[in-house]
Amino acid sequence: MARKKLIAGNWKMNETLPEAVVLTQEISNIFEKDWLETVDVCICPPYIDLKPAKTVLDFDHLGIAVGAQNVFYEPKGAYTGEISVPMIKEVGCTYCIVGHSERRTLFGETNEDVNLKAKALLADGLSPIICVGESLEVREGGAYLDYVCAQVRAAYAGIAEAEAKDTVVAYEPIWAIGTGRTATPEQAEEVCAAIRETLTELYDQSVADTIRVLYGGSMNEGNAEMLLAMANIDGGLIGGASLKAQSFVAIVQAAL
Ligand code: PEP
Repeated sequence: MARKKLIAGNWKMNETLPEAVVLTQEISNIFEKDWLETVDVCICPPYIDLKPAKTVLDFDHLGIAVGAQNVFYEPKGAYTGEISVPMIKEVGCTYCIVGHSERRTLFGETNEDVNLKAKALLADGLSPIICVGESLEVREGGAYLDYVCAQVRAAYAGIAEAEAKDTVVAYEPIWAIGTGRTATPEQAEEVCAAIRETLTELYDQSVADTIRVLYGGSMNEGNAEMLLAMANIDGGLIGGASLKAQSFVAIVQAAL
């Protein structure tokens, strides 16, 4: 089944407000609106850059979406330092990354947190980009498919079929993130296919066929085309290369 590819840029904790405006404008300047008929594109700047980035994109009438990198699952209240789903929705986010490996390893985010965040986003009509992926230790131990598929099962607990269709999964092997060591297309495809099989077990083939499974981990303009050619890789979650307009846009073009 043909799924529309999604290229999402994860800016992480980079770009001050003026820098974010410049980067968004640079992307916008070299972007061709027609591409969005074939590929969905989303940028995920830090929270305080979301509104200005969205304003630049809206001013240029570009349909590039904006997403957050994280969110808290409670709608409001005494949660100092947190940001809610209604808050990111109000500034125009339609996507939100959840369970990125940096959040899991550096900030102690659990599978349960990821599930609660995904459910809160779906309840408000946003699409979670649910990140899963194994460490080098797990990969070398050989049980990486079981590990990643267990993360998928935990993330989707209690999510109904109708909502599951609005989710995105990003397979991001930790050993490939920010390391310059990309998974080979075959390595990435093996896990992305196993993720789709897990989604088929949780729902059914037709639902699993609608959910986009992205690859993330040192994807760049040199390797994107080969990775995106794989049957179960429906796009990319791009870290480092999303911080350079030319590189990010070249990856978008590789998805056309
Ligand atoms: C990421 O952190 O989501 C990521 C894929 O980073 P990079 O592209 O820099 O490896």
